[in-house]
Amino acid sequence: MRIKNNYLANLFENVCRTNANEIEFLQAVNEVLSSLEPVVERRPDLAAAGVIERLVEPERLIQFRVSWTDDAGRVRVNRGYRVQFNSAIGPYKGGLRLHPSVNASILKFLGFEQVFKNALTGLPIGGAKGGSNFDPKGKSDGEIMRFCQSFMTELARHVGADTDVPAGDIGVGGREIGYMFGQYKRIRNEFTGVLTGKGLTFGGSLVRTEATGYGLCYFTQEMLSARGLGFAGSRIVISGSGNVAIYAAEKAAQLGGRVIAMSDSNGYIHDPEGIDLAVIKQIKEVERGRISEYARRVPRAAYTEGPGVWSVPCEIALPCATQNDLALEDAKRLCRNGCFAVAEGANMPCTAEAIALFQHSGVLFAPAKAANAGGVAVSALEMSQNSLRMAWSFEEVDSRLQEIMAGIYRKACAAASEYGRPGDLICGANIAAFLKVAEAMLWQGVA
Ligand code: NDP
Repeated sequence: MRIKNNYLANLFENVCRTNANEIEFLQAVNEVLSSLEPVVERRPDLAAAGVIERLVEPERLIQFRVSWTDDAGRVRVNRGYRVQFNSAIGPYKGGLRLHPSVNASILKFLGFEQVFKNALTGLPIGGAKGGSNFDPKGKSDGEIMRFCQSFMTELARHVGADTDVPAGDIGVGGREIGYMFGQYKRIRNEFTGVLTGKGLTFGGSLVRTEATGYGLCYFTQEMLSARGLGFAGSRIVISGSGNVAIYAAEKAAQLGGRVIAMSDSNGYIHDPEGIDLAVIKQIKEVERGRISEYARRVPRAAYTEGPGVWSVPCEIALPCATQNDLALEDAKRLCRNGCFAVAEGANMPCTAEAIALFQHSGVLFAPAKAANAGGVAVSALEMSQNSLRMAWSFEEVDSRLQEIMAGIYRKACAAASEYGRPGDLICGANIAAFLKVAEAMLWQGVA
């Protein structure tokens, strides 16, 4: 996206120079800076205090070695990271990703986005992200445990309930969080809320598992109903079949939609009568298997190897797999097939070109920062419950989640209108979040 404002264009050029080749990070920064044009024109004090220059630089980037032993007794070495991006409004907070693609650029983009997302929730949490290039696929339970213990042995010195509170992301669910929590407790001799997404028997919150997917649908429902639309009677296509995808599918169906396609990194399934989520949960959450298995168990469904889930005609598309998984050609196909809403469950799943086409074609678009903030919001509620040494009911947490998602929608709409971009939820979310963090940074002086 070309940035027209001179100050921001020069700033972005500088970011490109100092972060050369970090494609994902530059993509995320470019989108935010493009949104901030009307803000810097109205608020010269922000440039004078160097707020944006400071915001695009992580406060700390930690990289470390993770050595562990596989089942055959061989020593393996991976690279671990934690990017502590911004702590202006609260302790660092953000997930841990275990995937072979993990590198500094991907974690910096995720950490940068997290700063804004966390601000939108209205809760006191700063932004961070971390993980490793470790590939959990095909590893035994013992190998996962030994990796997680080794990872936490180093990470423990950088995190803490009031410092930095990691959670799950791709490749990190309840099992991995449990092993990491156990190791932290052993090293520190402290039972504290240092991680969220914990098991319910040791400080986890009800609704955390469902939160990102449910929150995505609550946000989307707000966006749809403002135009007199809804999930009811719509066909829905979802990419991915992990934590976010599964609970987005569950809530979309509860709201009256029909989820007809889902995918994993090998291929996608198409079940025109509506996907049987109990079968997906069994394959993905219990057996940790491949989605192709679904077509073997549900004969009316078809499995297709390779990418292509966006070729299935639908009214609502929910990309919930990974970054840049919906590109321009996919967007064109969705538009041609009559899709009227796209809401991002994953982080940055749509390329800039795909988003431009959606906006140009009048497709309702919900950006990740706003739409998938439900996960971190309930993580922050888990932190509150841990501090109170209490556990709230499912209904209580779920109703707070709904309120938070509706609040994010209202904030994004209001900021978009106030800064001359009515209806543009990308600009609105970026501006509302930015102003909150910027204000805190101004109050705290140059740091
Ligand atoms: P999971 O590991 O549970 O699931 C990820 C899903 O995406 C899997 O189906 C996986 O398929 C698929 N996938 C991953 N990488 C690729 C790839 N390169 N190409 C195609 N498919 C891929 O992760 P989550 O559901 O937790 O996370 C999904 C997205 O949501 C991520 O972008 C994450 O950052 C974001 N997110 C997650 C939150 C959470 O609370 N968990 C909160 C907010 C955002 P396969 O199994 O074959 O690898």
